[in-house]
Amino acid sequence: MTEMPLEHPRADWAAFADSLSPVEVIDEPVLVKKRSRDFFWYSPVLNAQLKKYFGDLVAVPKTPDEMRYCLQRAFEADVPVTLRGGGTGNYGQAVPLKGGLIIETTKMNRIIEIGEGYVRAEAGALMADVNAALIEQGWEMAMFPSTQDIATIGGFVAGGSAGIGSIANGALREKGNIIQLKALSLEAEPQEHAFDAEAALQIHHAWGLNGVITEVTLRTVPHRNWVGCMATFDSYRDCYAAGYALAAAPDIGCKLASTVEARIVDYFPRLKGHLREGMHLLVSLVPAEDMDAFRALMAAQGGHLDLAMSDAERQAAKLPHVFEFAYNHTTLQVLKADRSATYQQIGVPDPSDADAVAAAGAALGNDVWQHHEFARLDGRIAAFDLPIIWFSDEVRLREINSIYEQHGHSIADAHTYFVEGGGLKNADYRHLAWKKRMDPKGLLNPGKSRAWEKVKHLSAEEIEAKAKG
Ligand SMILES: Cc1cc2nc3c(=O)[nH]c(=O)nc-3n(C[C@H](O)[C@H](O)[C@H](O)COP(=O)(O)OP(=O)(O)OC[C@H]3O[C@@H](n4cnc5c(N)ncnc54)[C@H](O)[C@@H]3O)c2cc1C
Repeated sequence: MTEMPLEHPRADWAAFADSLSPVEVIDEPVLVKKRSRDFFWYSPVLNAQLKKYFGDLVAVPKTPDEMRYCLQRAFEADVPVTLRGGGTGNYGQAVPLKGGLIIETTKMNRIIEIGEGYVRAEAGALMADVNAALIEQGWEMAMFPSTQDIATIGGFVAGGSAGIGSIANGALREKGNIIQLKALSLEAEPQEHAFDAEAALQIHHAWGLNGVITEVTLRTVPHRNWVGCMATFDSYRDCYAAGYALAAAPDIGCKLASTVEARIVDYFPRLKGHLREGMHLLVSLVPAEDMDAFRALMAAQGGHLDLAMSDAERQAAKLPHVFEFAYNHTTLQVLKADRSATYQQIGVPDPSDADAVAAAGAALGNDVWQHHEFARLDGRIAAFDLPIIWFSDEVRLREINSIYEQHGHSIADAHTYFVEGGGLKNADYRHLAWKKRMDPKGLLNPGKSRAWEKVKHLSAEEIEAKAKG
């Protein structure tokens, strides 16, 4: 089934599957193929490159012991291993480029402990389940991805970076957000390592290349009574400016501030009749006690508050969560109607400058529709454009990148499957030093790191030294 030849091909997958017993396995080709994909199809570039790669077998361990057993067998048999949570990554992170064993974590999903300001869960726990359990005890995740209904907590720390809540609590990598990660090595006798606080960054966002995360402890914050809000504006410039003003407002503790061009909003059929037609949209989650200040701010910015719903009201109205019109869900809403859309990840140089954002928008042309997310990174407000791009070809995609760059914006390329290619621009040698320690045979998620190919012959210490040099 694999496209690329295995370095150590295993002809007999049935025998390998038997060797995993009593761990549940999936060998039905259609199901194995399904679990070999993630959301890379958002990118026509990645779609063309990755759609031909499939794993050979899926294991579904239910406990860390079963996980350990799968890793032992894979090490013995030289089988490549790709971890999979919910499979919602956008860059083909979970695609097994060299075939082999996919280990799906979704049944290793216990929520182990909820305490004062933290939650500890097995890697396969569903983000939505973790959040629901927290809310019952008066807490909530400091941030979560808009895919919480499918994404796992392990997949989020291994593949994600920020989400709903990041405007108040920063990105995952920021101090205090990841309290501890436990990960197993891929060795004859897999060893469990615990990475506390800052040390967790050595495993975070490494796409499962350098260890198998078994347990995650994340920061939580006291639960608040959130109101899902949608305000509309005549111009995108004013809508964006209102998003920035909201992000900066000292008296409004929102956990989401997204702005979406009217042309994109046209692709939100679920909101028809709830919003003024043809308007640009600001999406937010605002604590109930801050609603007066929010209303005043939207009015002062020239906006109109079309929707303000508690979660109970939203459910009664049978509407999705407001965050399903934010982050990469915005792209998904468009893709549901037209698969020729794609997107890009763009950093805005000066988030406070709405005129510059409008000028970049004007220079981009009709095939690029703007959508911004606001977050607080290292204490400062940051804005990201996740525009809808009507894809024609890669030449035009590069031209669009270059127009953004001419306007001072930065690109975190969403159209590459190398870990060094997107948000993580340079090689992370701390990640790779741990890969050397945790994965001496280089079997974990092979093919996703360009830098690994250049350093894999070095010792872990020599690789780590490059991080300092
Ligand atoms: C519509 C949409 C919206 C999104 N919104 C956001 C968002 O708001 N914020 C955000 O950060 N991302 C977002 N993403 C990207 C993605 O959803 C998140 O990164 C998500 O948290 C990934 O979780 P998952 O369980 O689906 O991981 P997967 O896609 O299954 O895996 C992600 C990566 O982690 C590895 N991995 C999984 N489990 C483990 C483990 N136990 N140990 C080691 N490695 C592991 C996989 O091999 C893969 O490389 C979005 C994607 C989509 C399609």
